[in-house]
Amino acid sequence: PDVPVGSILAAASRRYGARTAFAHGEHALSFTEVYQAACRFANALTDHGIGRGDTVALHLPNCPAYPVAYYGTLLSGATFSPANPLLPPDDLAFQLTDCGAAVVVTYGPLSGGLATVADRIPARLTVVVSPEGEIQAGQAEFAAFHADRPDTRPHVAIDVRADLAHLSYTGGTTGRSKGVQLPHRNVVTNTLQYVCWQSGARPRLDEHGDVTVEQIGGADEWPTRHGEGVVVNVTPWFHAMGTISALNATVLTGTTVVLHDRFDPVRYLADAERLRVTSIGGAPALFAALMACPEFATADLSSVRGLGSGAAPMSHEMINALRARFPDAVIAEGYGMTEVTMAATTAPTYRSGTRKVGSVGLPIPDTEIKIVATEGGEEPLPTGEQGEICVRGPQVMTGYRNRPEETAAALVDGWLHTGDVGVLDEDGYLSIVDRKKDMLLYKGYNVFPRELEELLAAHPGVVAAAVVGRPRDDVGELPVAFVVKAPGDDLEAGALLDAVNARVLPYKRLRELYFVDEIPVSAAGKVLKRKLREQLP
Ligand code: ATP
Ligand code: MG
Repeated sequence: PDVPVGSILAAASRRYGARTAFAHGEHALSFTEVYQAACRFANALTDHGIGRGDTVALHLPNCPAYPVAYYGTLLSGATFSPANPLLPPDDLAFQLTDCGAAVVVTYGPLSGGLATVADRIPARLTVVVSPEGEIQAGQAEFAAFHADRPDTRPHVAIDVRADLAHLSYTGGTTGRSKGVQLPHRNVVTNTLQYVCWQSGARPRLDEHGDVTVEQIGGADEWPTRHGEGVVVNVTPWFHAMGTISALNATVLTGTTVVLHDRFDPVRYLADAERLRVTSIGGAPALFAALMACPEFATADLSSVRGLGSGAAPMSHEMINALRARFPDAVIAEGYGMTEVTMAATTAPTYRSGTRKVGSVGLPIPDTEIKIVATEGGEEPLPTGEQGEICVRGPQVMTGYRNRPEETAAALVDGWLHTGDVGVLDEDGYLSIVDRKKDMLLYKGYNVFPRELEELLAAHPGVVAAAVVGRPRDDVGELPVAFVVKAPGDDLEAGALLDAVNARVLPYKRLRELYFVDEIPVSAAGKVLKRKLREQLP
């Protein structure tokens, strides 16, 4: 689809007009209101000389101003770059410099932190979304910045294959975040690819930005109807999963998004019941938190027709528990990464019931997957052999920002080398084995921590578990487990070690096990193994 990202909102405004797009406490914005405000924001940027080739960073938590600034940036022709509001000052300064942000949109309570790095970043303008009015000298207030501008869409010629819509940063799970360059075409395509698999409908965006929806699913299709969905949002928009599945896809499908300031599982469940939400989406950490609440078993969640998970592995235990709780809902797990805009595969439960627990499914439309040797090479390995997952498709990035060597290593003939190890089965279903960087080498054998983590997590009394390697010169690396146990459980380390080791090949055996209060996770809910390695006693 050769239309820019701003057309997604333009189309939603035409199609869903007065329907609520975003609700936050007492405030609600309709699709048309968001579109008009975004156009005003775009015109304000244009008046400040910001447009194609410039970057606007959003250093914001999810709030109603976010979609206005996001689409406004894209409608002006500028590039959006999301910054996690929790970034420590040095990382924030690095990222805002690396992306070359000309404008930073921040949030009142964060603006002091931003001010401390102001002399280290290139931004010439700071706009503050300020519920409490905390504006520092030299900063502009968000509402005042765009209130008086025209609400008509600025005329900008966008080259959808070359002009960057997103300059997004990877999760920083394995090291310093990398800037990922994603033209408009990637964002529109991946949104359509995602909506296609999650709704059983094939939406098309034409050159006028009009969406037409063709229902393609069978009887077991994802039952959310366009223009009827309601979700409670806690997925951060600064992350790939948020910007595509929880922002562009909700706008494209006319879904009402109810914002919560912070994730409180009890409140989430109460609103899910009260508002009759149609789907629940997020990282496995979200589902784990919901399932830990007593209300999870008792709330009336009969309106929920779909559950979507991604970003990190969901354990078999969790999938089975969710299936028991939502026997009629579609449970879909997707696999992707910032470098593919968001998604590369999905478990296509809405098709003919061929759900394979433990697999992340089939490539989404127009996407190819191959497995190559982890030591290098481009030749696909035979079916059933483990190796590095490579992805090719219109959603694959054009390269990393300011990192020519990493770009050359990651992109070969259009194939993205993902850094993840996986395996394809005879039906073309992909399963994720682990990250290449987390793989341990013991006496020449590969040991994948995830296998051990699954076995630990399956044990009653284990809340969470992560395995890292302890380097030892003579053998390579020995697997060491960190385990969080359920409060009051009398589980013993030795017994748990024995239980897991009885079920694995000898070279994979866990050598040490430590009980800890928590396992460090990133803002996106991923286990930070580099932090755990530092905690090795
Ligand atoms: P960095 O690249 O900076 O180390 P990151 O890889 O965590 O951070 P993201 O792009 O946010 O940054 O995450 C993509 C990664 O998340 C994938 O490469 C994969 O390892 C993991 N992932 C995503 N979805 C799944 C899934 N369904 N199952 C298992 N792992 C997943
Ligand atoms: Mg990565």
